[in-house]
Amino acid sequence: MDSMSRATCLFDGCHSVVIAINENDIISLPERVYGHFKLLEKRTGQDVSLSESNFLVVPDVWDFDNVGVSREIPSSLLGDSADNGDFDFDYGNSSWKIKKCLKYLICADCDKGPIGIICHVQDQDNNEEKVFHLLSLRSLQIGEN
Ligand SMILES: [Zn+2]
Repeated sequence: MDSMSRATCLFDGCHSVVIAINENDIISLPERVYGHFKLLEKRTGQDVSLSESNFLVVPDVWDFDNVGVSREIPSSLLGDSADNGDFDFDYGNSSWKIKKCLKYLICADCDKGPIGIICHVQDQDNNEEKVFHLLSLRSLQIGEN
């Protein structure tokens, strides 16, 4: 009945639990977000449906079992460049646009990553802004538990 999966660090000797995946929070971001933010990427052994829908929205940092926050994202990757305008996604009942990304998420135990980004996002219907942790499922090992 409970089909919840866990995302764990994919590195041997670590495999620290990062978060339990709520499938309602899975979104798709454009493929090039990986290259843009130089996210860690490994696809082997992963569920196909999860690799197509490739990020997990985590509104509250306390929803993680373990996660680290690393250095600021270089300013060259920020701002109002035309590039960033294409990073939008549907979540909940809204369409969101990434306005600005602040920091990287890394494994709390072994510091490997980045496995995600912390971003200011804007609701395209009412312009409300929030901070979301966007966790890259492709950067992690996904398993049933
Ligand atoms: Zn780790």
